[in-house]
Amino acid sequence: MNTKPNVCIVGSINMDLTVITDKMPMQGETVLGDKFFTSPGGKGANQAVAAARMGANVNFIGAVGDDSFGPTLRQNLANEGVETKGIETMSDEATGTATIILSESDNRIIVAPGANNRVTPELVMQHSDLIKNSDVVLLQLEIPMETIMAVTELAEANKVPVILNPAPFQPLPEEVLKNTAYLTPNEIELASMKEDPLFESIQEKLIVTRGDKGISFAENGAEREISGHSVQVTDTTGAGDTFNGALAAELAGGAELSDALVMANAAAALSVSKTGAQGGMPTKQDIQEFLR
Ligand code: ATP
Repeated sequence: MNTKPNVCIVGSINMDLTVITDKMPMQGETVLGDKFFTSPGGKGANQAVAAARMGANVNFIGAVGDDSFGPTLRQNLANEGVETKGIETMSDEATGTATIILSESDNRIIVAPGANNRVTPELVMQHSDLIKNSDVVLLQLEIPMETIMAVTELAEANKVPVILNPAPFQPLPEEVLKNTAYLTPNEIELASMKEDPLFESIQEKLIVTRGDKGISFAENGAEREISGHSVQVTDTTGAGDTFNGALAAELAGGAELSDALVMANAAAALSVSKTGAQGGMPTKQDIQEFLR
């Protein structure tokens, strides 16, 4: 019998295409860059890897295109132990990409969502059992909002708690706010959320990530904080994704909220001390050793 906690993630899968250059091209200009590399990304996929490294049984619902990136990204998730049967291949679509131009003083990013825009409510309903049978559902905002609405509604109907990481920020429909157990904005996303007339009503659901300052959250009507760990920072990419994946895995395993947040805060701190979004994500054992 499988006794591992079940996390279902409905989200994005991207290939990150990074070029490093000394000089940013100006309008109409071509420059010779330095290094180029590809790395698996997308908030959904990153959070799935983080949850799997924490020991959760992770089911993914999403889509890739019918190109060379699709099988590579599917295999990457499978190698991490993520169950990929909920990932569809779209025959007339490209896999999502993020094209990243990095120089010492600047970075410019273009995301082409491709197949991620085809993660429709209909696609999700084909895999609705994965949602119904999970302990926690984890979402981000790199797939269509109508899908977020459908997933949160289905999860609520089946009493499965939803963690929604509102990134990249978009205003959330009232039903989504109502059907979500926890919202995990960073400080910038929180500032946007404060403009929502419903903001006061969602205070209890907020878990705010504050970079090196750690986390704040509400518990029994009081605001609580967990301080950030002092670590050598190498690369903060994916800190938020590590936090969300680890939080989902811990809550799915039955941890109390404050205990789950201690683990997720430590997981994210460990991730910033290593390079790469997925590469730096720790295992549960790494975290237990770090906290000892
Ligand atoms: P990113 O977009 O870089 O993935 P984010 O903006 O979504 O991150 P942050 O609030 O910056 O989210 O970071 C998420 C969590 O990661 C923090 O709550 C904290 O636990 C951890 N963290 C981030 N930066 C640091 C740091 N410099 N030192 C220690 N912990 C950190």
